[in-house]
Amino acid sequence: MNDRLSVEKKVLSENDKLAAEIRSRMTQNRIVSFNLVSSPGSGKTSLLERTLEALNDKLKIALIAGDVQTENDANRLSRAGGKMVRPLVTGGACHLDARMVSRVLDELDLTDIDILFIENVGNLVCPSSYDLGEDMKIVLMSTTEGDDKPLKYPAMFRRSSVFVINKIDLLGLSNFDMERVRENALSINGNLRIFELSCRTGDGLDIWFEWLIQMVALKSGV
Ligand code: MG
Ligand code: ZN
Repeated sequence: MNDRLSVEKKVLSENDKLAAEIRSRMTQNRIVSFNLVSSPGSGKTSLLERTLEALNDKLKIALIAGDVQTENDANRLSRAGGKMVRPLVTGGACHLDARMVSRVLDELDLTDIDILFIENVGNLVCPSSYDLGEDMKIVLMSTTEGDDKPLKYPAMFRRSSVFVINKIDLLGLSNFDMERVRENALSINGNLRIFELSCRTGDGLDIWFEWLIQMVALKSGV
């Protein structure tokens, strides 16, 4: 095996160990956790803002906002009402890893959280290889992107459990074809749960909120 490959393998197996630790801490504290992944600009932060606005009174929501630089997204989430928001600035790294997440979790009171959202760095490539101990990866796309994206980034769609298609209010303004994107995504991963919504108009968000509440109930065993 060449050296670069063996180093990569070692890094990933250390990451998997830490991710397993995170997963067991989450389970002990009955926290349902999601790792949000997408290209830059698909609407991860917007979806979290809308989710806070709708569910902040019902659920105890913690958010980790990953970015290469700036705490802008973390500030947006605090302004949207987030009470437990932590920025995670990677300082150049194009993905989050379990070590970074584990350090941030140490600052939070895990006994007081129902749901944890980890907003990954905008990138559909290497975040697919780094388990963060989450229950599910949620991959987002918007209708301003190419509807062949699931075929271009199959690893991410294969490893995700949920596919959110945002900006449905802009359908018809480009060649984006909803049927085609669904077919493409399901051809990679037939188990994907798909949501179609618009963070701008609010269309489709109710179904998303209901699903989140169900996931919290399932994890907390209520
Ligand atoms: Mg963002
Ligand atoms: Zn990376």
